[in-house]
Formats: sequence, structure tokens, C-alpha cells
Amino acid sequence: MARFIFVTGGVVSSLGKGLAAASLASLLQHHGYKVRIRKLDPYLNVDPGTMSPYQHGEVYVTDDGAETDLDLGHYERFTGVTSKKSDNITSGKVYQDIIKRERKGEYLGGTVQVIPHVTNEIKKFIDNDLNGEDFVICEIGGTIGDIESLPFIEAIRQFHYENDVSMSMFIHVTLVPFIASSGELKTKPTQHSVKELRSLGIQPNILLCRSDREIPKDERDKIALFCNVKKNNVIQAINAQTIYEVPINFMYEELDKRVLEYFNLDSKKSIDLKMWKNVSELILKTDGEVLINIVGKYTGLADAYKSLNEALSHGGIFNKVKVKINWIESEDLNEANIDEKLSCSDGVLVPGGFGKRGSEGKILAIKYAREKNIPYFGICFGMQLAAIEAVRSLLDIKDATSSEFDETKASVVGLMTEWAKEDQLEQRKIDSDLGGTMRLGAYKAKIRDNSKAFNVYGEDEISERHRHRYEVNNNYCSELEKKGVIFSAFSPDGLLPEILEIPSHPWFIGVQFHPELKSKPFDPHPLFKSFIGAAINRSKHNQ
Ligand code: GLN
Repeated sequence: MARFIFVTGGVVSSLGKGLAAASLASLLQHHGYKVRIRKLDPYLNVDPGTMSPYQHGEVYVTDDGAETDLDLGHYERFTGVTSKKSDNITSGKVYQDIIKRERKGEYLGGTVQVIPHVTNEIKKFIDNDLNGEDFVICEIGGTIGDIESLPFIEAIRQFHYENDVSMSMFIHVTLVPFIASSGELKTKPTQHSVKELRSLGIQPNILLCRSDREIPKDERDKIALFCNVKKNNVIQAINAQTIYEVPINFMYEELDKRVLEYFNLDSKKSIDLKMWKNVSELILKTDGEVLINIVGKYTGLADAYKSLNEALSHGGIFNKVKVKINWIESEDLNEANIDEKLSCSDGVLVPGGFGKRGSEGKILAIKYAREKNIPYFGICFGMQLAAIEAVRSLLDIKDATSSEFDETKASVVGLMTEWAKEDQLEQRKIDSDLGGTMRLGAYKAKIRDNSKAFNVYGEDEISERHRHRYEVNNNYCSELEKKGVIFSAFSPDGLLPEILEIPSHPWFIGVQFHPELKSKPFDPHPLFKSFIGAAINRSKHNQ
């Protein structure tokens, strides 16, 4: 039977619970165990699909088409285990299922309540859809003390006591802040947070104390005493220089040993973190640098494009260069300043996006990269806008646009109303719900022989993750091909353009999918490897 590790957070949010869960999972894998990581989000949205990136950061899409929390991206990147729909729930999803059943009369006249009905649903989620895992790590979103997380905390408390208590444990991530005026690290916030957790019936087994410096042994012992945790199990988590150092740091602090000790398990093989050491060294010690200008919205919020930032750095790891990412707010870009802003680029990237605001600035950037031979990578929206730019400039259809922006006769990009999903036909209408109705998840595409895309992937059939409602209208493909813009991949039925490229350009590729979601530090995505390679060539030209 699987062992369960529940990870909660206290004091403040953004302590890196997700990274802690992912790093611990990686260590357990290195000890020879099979792991799975899940996220339980207490908010009321059914999923983060309809939330603004300002609220929630990136929406991470799984192969099986779920729109999930960005922490699932960390889980996949750190463990290589493909996340599934069944790895993320929210209060909204739990309530939606319960209310649906209530309306059908399935509760047979009973009063439907948080305890037991909501907590039962959460407990069912925790151990559903497992396949021989040794460990299931469940991260609870939010911070202890939030009203909306109470049913989740109650559910994990029940889960622990209803099953063999030696088969599950609690790890609480807290903050030990340094107060400059007194020159001291403060343990009180941790004490309060654990007190709150204990008042909910949960005694943490391990405390992971985030700090910007060493926590002296005396302070750790004090925390142990006040929080009723073994001295050894108060573990410091000092800020790392790169996220890839976190598993290594945890190993030095013996987090993995403490966990195995709790479960009375031995390591199945000697642990070797060469993989993480190599990756961290390449990130920290590389000399050369390329500058990638990303033209988009939400430029002030690093979390909005978490996987993209990571995938670019993976391309850097592979090519042994640092990737300097500079965000350019597309609304600020115009004919007058574009040269000043983009001429120094070793690569230009337009990422996924939605809506008209800022789209003209992105189109301007694409035109600039195309005309100046700067490597260009268009992802999803960035591919659609590249098609619009090409139709406007090369086919001279000046009002070419997307029906996402305006009603138009020249919709180069139009709403998808039906498409094939394996043997099924998916259909949508203009007034379909917004949540969960895009073309989501992994779809196959066929790549044309002798294309750049074929060279990059080294194969003619790929599977990539999608998240889009609009699609390049294939009526324009043959005219564009005459002008040198090639559609080098299509959906297997030949109807949906998946990759656009310009063979005469040093590197100009637009993809309808999100390759960043599948890139891993130890297995960088081919498109990011190739794009950064092209940026290196450009940087020689720029010098
Ligand atoms: N807004 C575009 C669409 O819905 C692109 C989406 C995206 O970039 N993820 O098709």
C-alpha cells in the first residue's frame, strides 16, 4: 500500500511548498521508490482555467486535458512523472460533484454537510487512481488558518487516523524570518502556525523551516520543544541559488532520511544526485549568455509563464549558455521604439495569450523578427499572430485578423467549432461555457518530411499539449506557402495547422501547442534546444 505524505504551509504563502514536495519526491525516486504528487486547492473555482494569471499564475495543462495548478509543472519537471487530471482538485470541483449528486437525489433524503460529505470526497481523491506507487505526496494549497482550507485539513486528519497511522505523515513548511533591527531569527511565527495546525488535530512530524540564513541548532531545538516535533525533524530550508539545488540541499539536511525513518523503510539504492548537481552547475557557472526578448502581457508576473521560463533555461542548460529573459510589454511597443527595444535580441518569443489588448505590439515584434532575421519562436497565440502578420505583409490583406478580436471577413484565425479527439468529434458553439471547453491536452500532429520541424524533432509524429479556442484558418495555407511560409505540421486528419515555419529564415517557428509544458531540466524540449542554439548563432552576429 502507498504511504501518504501531506504537505501543509504556515505563516505566509509562497514558501515553495510545491518545490519542497517536488524535491522530496525526486529524492524518494533516487532511493528507488515510485512516487506521485497531488495538489489539493481550497479555492472555489472548479479549476484555474478561467482565472487571470495575476490571480493564479500559469495554468498547467496535463496530457489528459486538465487545466491545473502550476505546481503540477514543478512536479513533472522534478520527477518526470506525467501528471493527470486525477492529481489536482479544488473545493469548487468537490462541491460541483456533490451538488450534482444531490440534485439527482443520490443522498436519499440525507442532509448534505461539509463533514462527512465534503471530507469524504476529499479523502476519495487522495487515494484514487493509483498504480503501485510507494509514496503519494499531497500538497494542500493555501496557508494554515485560511477558512476555505478547513475541510481539507479535516480530511487529511481523518485520513491519517482512519488508516494505519504509520502509513501517513505530515510535513509543515514554515518561515523563520530574520529581523534586521534585532539581528535575530524569529521562531514565534512557526510556533503559532504549528499551534494552529495542532488545534485542528494535526501534529506535524517534520517541520521544514524556510530561512534566508542558517538556523542555529539552539533555535531549531527551541522550535522542536515548542512544536512537539523531534529535534532531528526540524529541518532548515535555506534559500537556494537555483531551484535545482533544492533536492541537493534537502539531501544534505537529511529530509529524505527522516521521511524513510518515519515509515521504517530503507533506501533501495545508494543515492546519487549527479543529475541535479550537473543541472545546478550548468545554471550557476555558465559564462556565455543569450538575450531572449519575450513580447507579451502580464510581464510583471514571473509566475504567469512559469513553464516557459523554465523551458528556456533548459534550452540554455543543453547549449551551455545562460538565457537572459527580458520581458517587453507589448502595449508599449510601436514603430518608433521597436528598433531600440528589439535590435539587441538574440531571439524574440511571443508566448501564449488571450484577447486583443497588446496584440498589435506582438504582431509588430513578429514582423521585425521576420524581416531582420532574428530567431523567432511563436507559441500558440504567438503562432496565430505570426500567421496574421504573414497574411497582412506577404499576401497584402491589410485587415487580416483573428475573430478572437473583432468580427471580420478575413479571419486568418477563427473560432474552432469542431475537431477530432481520437475517435470522437468535439463540438463547441460561440456561447459555450468558458471553463474547460478549449482544445485541451495532448493531441498528435504529423510533421512534414524535410522541414525544419522534422529536423528539430527527428521524427514525423509528435504529441504535444494544447490549450486554445481559436485556430489558423487553413484556407490561407497554400497562398502563404507560395510566399515561403510553410505549414510543416497538421493534426492527423490534415485539418488543423500545428506548426508554421519560414525555411529561408535562420529560425522562424510558430507552434499551435505549448512545448514548454513538457520540457524538463534533464530532458530539455527539442524546440527549446534548437531555438537557444539559433540564438547563440545570432549572438555571434550581434557582437
Ligand atoms: N487566444 C488564443 C486561442 O484561444 C491562443 C491561446 C493560447 O495562446 N494558449 O486560441
